[in-house]
Amino acid sequence: MEMMKTEENPEHVKCLIIGSGPAGYTAAIYAARADLKPVLYTGIQEGGQLTTTTEVENYPGYPEGTQGPEMMMDFKNQALRFGTDIRFGHISSVDFSASPHQVMVDEKLKILADTVIIATGASAKWLGLESEKKFNGFGVSACAVCDGFFFRGQDVAIVGAGDTAAEEATYLAKLCRKVFMLVRKNELKASKAMQHRVMNTPNIEILFEHETKEILGDHKGVNGVLVWDKVNQIEKTIDITGFFVAIGHQPNTEIFKPWLKMDETGYIQTIPGSTKTDIEGVFVCGDAQDHIYRQAITAAGTGCMAAIDAERYLAAKEHPFKEMVA
Ligand SMILES: Cc1cc2nc3c(=O)[nH]c(=O)nc-3n(C[C@H](O)[C@H](O)[C@H](O)COP(=O)(O)OP(=O)(O)OC[C@H]3O[C@@H](n4cnc5c(N)ncnc54)[C@H](O)[C@@H]3O)c2cc1C
Repeated sequence: MEMMKTEENPEHVKCLIIGSGPAGYTAAIYAARADLKPVLYTGIQEGGQLTTTTEVENYPGYPEGTQGPEMMMDFKNQALRFGTDIRFGHISSVDFSASPHQVMVDEKLKILADTVIIATGASAKWLGLESEKKFNGFGVSACAVCDGFFFRGQDVAIVGAGDTAAEEATYLAKLCRKVFMLVRKNELKASKAMQHRVMNTPNIEILFEHETKEILGDHKGVNGVLVWDKVNQIEKTIDITGFFVAIGHQPNTEIFKPWLKMDETGYIQTIPGSTKTDIEGVFVCGDAQDHIYRQAITAAGTGCMAAIDAERYLAAKEHPFKEMVA
């Protein structure tokens, strides 16, 4: 008979995966097939960021494209097929001071884990406008690489002043007829090289000291943006069909702060070429460690790496001698 799991006798798992986006589910597929019997906690956003979008056209294996939520169901079903124990729950805190690592679920259930794979993703920062929410996925996007293609030959606006905004503006400029870059201050924050690139792209028009007031549209989607021109103290409407927000991302890594090395934004740092963190047995994949690519395919790729890293870590612990002579 199985013993009751209590505070004194917590459940002990080989591999605990935190997050149910492309990174977490891919880690689960690999870990389950390696017999690590993974337990995966979905977090509040089951399926991750892609459940908030419609068309996904750039994930290989779907020649006709697919819908984000459907794609994540496919990921989930594949993870289930190999026996992943998928549970709904939010990891509220962790203690990585000793092995096995301690993880608290919803502040009440303690789990011990030989390996922990962090796949908690990141969240795009938004302006906070009602209209931005209303048209999200219908002309409003936080990812030029994901959605720029839908606006080929059209006029779009992008808000932001940093490196990402500059990079995304130049990416959009290759696809779109015209890109309005809306910048709140009278300067760009991007590096000099990126500024140079933006300024030398003829179809990008930088509108300094312009604040976004509202995104305009109808049942067909976005058709304009209302801006406040601070210099001339006037409101004006710019006709566009796509509105891109590039004001930064926040990795969902707050609970790991006391334990893991991170950059100033909160992206967890890995040992180069791996998904290893600075704590043994703790691995990180997907957007939680990636401020550069932030794509489903790269998240899935690093999810695969994390499961392989976890499997090899456990194998080396179980057979230290074999590892030495290998
Ligand atoms: C609107 C939109 C459209 C996009 N379109 C595309 C596209 O077309 N193509 C493309 O390649 N990429 C696209 N992306 C980017 C893509 O969604 C991300 O790169 C990818 O989802 C990152 O995967 P991830 O697994 O790292 O994290 P996420 O998908 O962010 O998933 C994170 C998971 O972690 C869970 N979690 C967080 N904290 C906790 C916690 N404390 N405890 C338990 N669980 C937790 C969440 O519930 C969630 O399940 C888009 C993103 C957005 C927002």
